[in-house]
Amino acid sequence: MALLQIKNLSKFFPVAQGFMSRLKEDVRAVDGVTLDIEDGETLGLVGESGCGKSTLGRCVIRLIEPTSGDVIFEDQNITDYNATEMREIRRKMQIIFQDPYSSLNPRMRVGDIIGEGMEIHKIASGDDLKFRVMELLDKVGLREEHYGRYPHEFSGGQRQRIGVARALAVNAKFIVADEAVSALDVSIQAQILNLLQDLQTEFKLTYFFISHDLRVVEHVSDRVAVMYLGKIVEIAPATKIYSDSQHPYTRALLSAVPIPDPSRKAERIVLEGDVPSPINPPPGCSFHPRCPFAEKICSEKEPELAFDGDHGVSCHLFGPGKAVR
Ligand code: SF4
Repeated sequence: MALLQIKNLSKFFPVAQGFMSRLKEDVRAVDGVTLDIEDGETLGLVGESGCGKSTLGRCVIRLIEPTSGDVIFEDQNITDYNATEMREIRRKMQIIFQDPYSSLNPRMRVGDIIGEGMEIHKIASGDDLKFRVMELLDKVGLREEHYGRYPHEFSGGQRQRIGVARALAVNAKFIVADEAVSALDVSIQAQILNLLQDLQTEFKLTYFFISHDLRVVEHVSDRVAVMYLGKIVEIAPATKIYSDSQHPYTRALLSAVPIPDPSRKAERIVLEGDVPSPINPPPGCSFHPRCPFAEKICSEKEPELAFDGDHGVSCHLFGPGKAVR
């Protein structure tokens, strides 16, 4: 059952056409994305920097207002909810940021940071609140004495644990993890990823795991969506994405990842050219200027995200059931 449904969601940011110009153009950061996130799963979202994945993550929890489209959470269309209506929804939808330090108030003690949400949402108060914060510190691998310390006294990995505890404190159901381990050393990354997986089992959490790092996404995801210039170009169970990817962009991304597995093709696909501007995306398939397989139709007609079972691919030439090349 889908916990979250994203329907034809777009986010355009207007920018001036030039210095002193009043004419505006749109940066099409997210451009007509439709996908479901099942209750209890981890959906990984990958793509190059600037492809719109963080904007999508923020739009689904309405940290950024979408330009158009719908977000349906627990069968409620929350797209136009006002601040009062969003209050209870915000408790259930939390985000963990890449840089937890910037999201932790440096003048608040960690116990107060974690407990703040519980007070606001009237989940606990007084001694009960302190007891629950202590429990959460233990759950995320911190200690009782950390309760009274300030964010600057912690390492990056520990701060990320504080961010996780803060999300759990308000009984979150859905967590957007936006590059949540990207700034951490590899060994610390593994600890945080294992923690997230343990907590997912214990608290029945659903994750939208956003990262540019395909190895990290493979490690945690049940399904993976691949984003290019604001659109989803491929989505499938993680095992299929990593063993039987179809879209040329997905294949190029995967070919750049050093994987010590001789059964996987080692041939590197080097993409020509730069990522096109999201202000004027190319016509047809937006990947066609860089695609080594592009044909005439690719610049003329935009491919749809077509599904064969659980595998969706947006390409005129490649996809389940199409000719293998
Ligand atoms: Fe490449 Fe054409 Fe497929 Fe786009 S539609 S990915 S240009 S083959």
